[in-house]
Amino acid sequence: MNPKFTIIKETEFGRLGEIETAHGTIQTPAFIFCGTKAAVKACSPDILKRTKTQIILSNTYHLLVYPGSEKIDELGGLQKMTAWNGPMMTDSGGYQIFSLGYGSVSQELKGIRNTKKTLVKIKEEGAKFKSYRDGKEIFLSPEGAMQAQINFGADLIFALDECTAFHIPKHETESSMERSQRWGVRCANYFNQNKKEHQGLYGIIQGGVYEDLRTKSIKYTNELDCFGIGVGGSLGKDIKDMKQVLEMIKAGCRKDRPKHLLGIGTIDAILMAIPYGIDTFDCVYPTRLARHGGALVRAHEKARYLNLNNSKFFNDSNPIDKSCACHTCKNFSRSYLHILLKNDEQLALMALTEHNICFMNNFMEEIRLALLEETWQNFLYKWVI
Ligand SMILES: [Zn+2]
Repeated sequence: MNPKFTIIKETEFGRLGEIETAHGTIQTPAFIFCGTKAAVKACSPDILKRTKTQIILSNTYHLLVYPGSEKIDELGGLQKMTAWNGPMMTDSGGYQIFSLGYGSVSQELKGIRNTKKTLVKIKEEGAKFKSYRDGKEIFLSPEGAMQAQINFGADLIFALDECTAFHIPKHETESSMERSQRWGVRCANYFNQNKKEHQGLYGIIQGGVYEDLRTKSIKYTNELDCFGIGVGGSLGKDIKDMKQVLEMIKAGCRKDRPKHLLGIGTIDAILMAIPYGIDTFDCVYPTRLARHGGALVRAHEKARYLNLNNSKFFNDSNPIDKSCACHTCKNFSRSYLHILLKNDEQLALMALTEHNICFMNNFMEEIRLALLEETWQNFLYKWVI
């Protein structure tokens, strides 16, 4: 079956929907956990299931570098190979090629120039980059990005785009956006002729913070022959810029397609973006935070997590969160988790990852309930810190 998107309810504070795929149905708004190299770090598929995870995302760039798309196809595709067997998304590889090539946005913000450039050359035909494993040159064209993701077997896949940072001049953002559009059309043509039956393609809106460019890009994705719309590129330097971009997207994007906000997914960013009709989010934040000893909580001294590395938790016999039904909160105290972290036990990372995944899934469920019952303002009040 082809993926299918249905809007269940539209409200001024956001919308409820569902994406049906051959591997299961995703209730939206949904959070998509990152299984970058075909695994969610420190988490088994069983744990993903018992925490009510709906969908995970793998990265084309990393999987192309190793083990390659043919190998994954040979092993039955991502869902079977990983034993997750649920809905999967793969990105196009563009973000990593360009962010690793140019230096990441966070490096850029800190004024650090990337010292290990891996991007070799971008041409109209595609992008050439070096493998970070063995230095081998890999060429990725729009058609190649499609074939790789077709081989991976993901349900929802992304067109190849060129990602630009927010500091670059407008004319460069414009020429990059135009190239992304030409690549997007080539992706859609190739994908629609060669896809597996269950797969759906997302076109990507670029254009940075420039209103006229975003407007052009929105028009292009509205007309592209695809299933969903990804919001990519730079959303600006702060929340104010991001809101302006999302406002344009809300006003201009066709309503019948699911909208995915690429790479953004902190609690506060999600609360901000839901009223603009964003349906899905992906971010490494909850799982990466767990691996650094951070346990998500509703609010804690203006932070949204406890840093269990802190010695004050040595004597804290409470669970991370009394109201959380996850295996970690039911069985382990903050004190034990602190001791595990101090002893460098792998179990600490697994236990915290499980809690953070469960926390995000509960958070998204509360969002859906607030939209369904039209109690968004009350819900938001509970989450403001
Ligand atoms: Zn928990």
